[in-house]
Amino acid sequence: MITIQPLGFVNSSVLKFLEKTLSKVFGKVKMLNPIEIPKECYNKLRRQYFSTCILFRLPSNNITLGITEHDMYANNLNFIFGEAELNGKRAIISLYRLKPELYGQKDDGLFKLRSLKEAMHEFGHVFGLKHCENKRCVMYFSNSIFDTDFKDWKYCQKCRALLSKKININLEFDLEFD
Ligand SMILES: [Zn+2]
Ligand SMILES: [Zn+2]
Repeated sequence: MITIQPLGFVNSSVLKFLEKTLSKVFGKVKMLNPIEIPKECYNKLRRQYFSTCILFRLPSNNITLGITEHDMYANNLNFIFGEAELNGKRAIISLYRLKPELYGQKDDGLFKLRSLKEAMHEFGHVFGLKHCENKRCVMYFSNSIFDTDFKDWKYCQKCRALLSKKININLEFDLEFD
């Protein structure tokens, strides 16, 4: 079973969309009640949260995806969309830089789709996938929102073949944004 752990306030329609869609992909998904984002992970100088600090404070009894609307950074990276334990249990994504408003747009569907891509990417790491050189594959590393928008929300055939040794997933359905 996969659990989703909101950290502080997180857009409820994005959460609902992720819960519904990820449960179609991976099977059962449970939405946990929101908890406070760990304050000790905040860097006052940078005005960002240190993602690795949050990651290691997430529950680890199940595979868990933490979600925050705060901006995050990691070592040697100005910002980060997400981080995961490779072959581990925990992953975290930030919706901060996925918001269309940040780029002068308004598009709820786009916001949900970007969130799904980042969640799928981090789950890929949890299930052992590394970055993929295929720019359309969700496991391609996003340097910017343009990379995120260019890639598909699904794993490419090569990544699917690797994943299938570890878990059964379902990608044969159309997304519903309502
Ligand atoms: Zn990655
Ligand atoms: Zn791939």
